[in-house]
Amino acid sequence: MEGVATSTAAGRLAPAANNTLVFRGHQLLVDERGGLARSPHRWLASLPPRCALDFLAPEGQPWAVIEVDRALEPPPGHEFRHLKTLLDTLPPATRSLAARALELLEFDRAHRFCGACGAPTVLHTRPSPMRRCTNTDCGREHYPRVSPVVIVAVERGPEILLGRSPHFPPGLYSALAGFVDAGESAEQAVHREILEETGLRIGNLRYFASQAWPFPHALMLGYQAEYEGGEILCAPDEIEDARFFHIDALPAVFPTRYAMANLLLRDFCLRHGRPWPPAG
Ligand SMILES: [Zn+2]
Repeated sequence: MEGVATSTAAGRLAPAANNTLVFRGHQLLVDERGGLARSPHRWLASLPPRCALDFLAPEGQPWAVIEVDRALEPPPGHEFRHLKTLLDTLPPATRSLAARALELLEFDRAHRFCGACGAPTVLHTRPSPMRRCTNTDCGREHYPRVSPVVIVAVERGPEILLGRSPHFPPGLYSALAGFVDAGESAEQAVHREILEETGLRIGNLRYFASQAWPFPHALMLGYQAEYEGGEILCAPDEIEDARFFHIDALPAVFPTRYAMANLLLRDFCLRHGRPWPPAG
């Protein structure tokens, strides 16, 4: 791929000329219609990218991703847009590709040195990206990190438990979520998070679905559960407000359509015979 300097990559995958994603921070280069930028090659060839790596898309085709300087302007007819604002509109395959690319950039940036011995690492891209320590006494292999997060819709008949963090936009409520701790199962994490954040006990836990959330490397694990007992007492450092919303009086602002919280709410409404999104 002309003009793209990889960072000590071993075993390049030779992606097709069109198969390059360009990120500026969390912003993806797209065309004027918000679709994947397909032909900025001359522009790309003129750049000194900060970081580039090859990878296989979830469907198996070779791709490359490059990261450009944050001050760089897009080529004519293109723009950089935060990936969060594109999640609802990109086709699912492109969304997966972009999520993978962004997480790999973060991995590559964060593992230039071995976490065990401090020596420099070298990027290998086959069979999948990893960085290997150059210290022959160590040789540790570092792989992209995925951080599991549980998110749960707690239901009480026709009501659903939603909460908001202090940093949420005005009016937005979402399903409660938290990272899985070391040594913990996802199910244990669900019970612990709900108890810690609201003081409630839950039961009948059911796995719902999972999705990548590449900011920077979360794997969202969606669950559904039923209220069993307790009174809501919000953890003051984490939750500004949490309450049960009746299905006919849900909050006005919803999480982005792609987000797991949105899918959980949608499922709750459809199971109870309500339209989605809610009328009005
Ligand atoms: Zn090492």
